[in-house]
Amino acid sequence: MQPNPSLEFNDAGLTAFLANLVRAPSPNPPGNEGLVAELMVTRLAGLGFETITVEAAPGRPSVVARLVGTGGGATLLFNGHMDVQPPGRHWSRDPFGATIEGRRLYGQGAMDMKAGLAATVYAVDSLQQAGLRLAGDIVITAVADEVCGGHLGTGFLISEGLVQADMAVVCEPTGDTVRVAHRGALWLEIEVTGKSAHGGRPWLGVNAVSKAARIIAAIEDQLVPSLQDRVHPLLPAPTINIGAIRGGTKFNLVADHVVFQLDRRLVPGEDADTAEAEVSALCTEICAADDDEWSVDVKRAMHVSPGEVDPDERIVRACREAHRKVTGEDAAIGSTAGFEDAHFLLDAGIPTAMYGPYRRTASGEDPHYTISGMADEFVDLDDVARATRIYAQLMIDLLEKPL
Ligand SMILES: [Zn+2]
Repeated sequence: MQPNPSLEFNDAGLTAFLANLVRAPSPNPPGNEGLVAELMVTRLAGLGFETITVEAAPGRPSVVARLVGTGGGATLLFNGHMDVQPPGRHWSRDPFGATIEGRRLYGQGAMDMKAGLAATVYAVDSLQQAGLRLAGDIVITAVADEVCGGHLGTGFLISEGLVQADMAVVCEPTGDTVRVAHRGALWLEIEVTGKSAHGGRPWLGVNAVSKAARIIAAIEDQLVPSLQDRVHPLLPAPTINIGAIRGGTKFNLVADHVVFQLDRRLVPGEDADTAEAEVSALCTEICAADDDEWSVDVKRAMHVSPGEVDPDERIVRACREAHRKVTGEDAAIGSTAGFEDAHFLLDAGIPTAMYGPYRRTASGEDPHYTISGMADEFVDLDDVARATRIYAQLMIDLLEKPL
């Protein structure tokens, strides 16, 4: 099947808009998505969208934009985050300069995922240039806070009841795959409190560093292996990473305080409460079995639920079909070991696919994780143009006719 021959779009306008998004710095933390939100609102309003901007916290806006169709059609949501990872230290270009070299546009967040936002906007622009009016509504949510868990972005919009749609696409860069599952994350801070004493008489104290080491060893030797049978057909088993530890004062003092940070990744079917209870139970067990007097306290810092959608769901099939129409190639079903905003939409009952058709890097690695947060992130402008065509095709396929 051939792509719709009447669909053309303003390639120079798309590039200029993407460059403007990249030149509006929004590294998270702290976020500061305001300038990106303004650019999105102005461009979307120019295309006839009704827009609202809401702030979950000061300076943390998210945009909900709706283009009302001629009536009787489905509502299709495109979700993209405006915040980006903080720039790495080794940029050879200005990370917010949007330098263009050949067909590459360099910038922090260029691929992850300001290209996705630009592609959705110019997909609508291309439909309007072709004079196409669709029956269904198009909703675009440009959100804050995704790289830190999304609770001040998509999570806030859902909790406020501001997002209604029949199906959704999260426009993360997914290469030539349509992703149907992502893992969740549970971040715990574990605080161990011992008793201070002089380092020359350690028997008078209780060393929190030593007790924390016991807990970490038990987590890695007992808990992690016990999780390995929680298999998912598309995802790695649950994992635990101890990402940071701090505590103690100096050589010759018995440390009375240690805090370490634990990142537990969840597969679909698991929930954060149970995962936290497993860690807490092990900590309590280690502490209770020890004759010394010390304590351990487990606090939740953040959690993101895992998410999955049936590969036979209409939105997944439609993404693959649009991909095939435009590229002539099949898009495989995929997944991501990281966390995404998709679970917020899935938990709200909106069938959601993760699909941002920017081709993979030459290394074959996952672009979301090889590029995100690394120096000299770029996106190929031909890929952005291709993604724009595919999103436009998807809009036509799902919204052209009344239901
Ligand atoms: Zn992303």
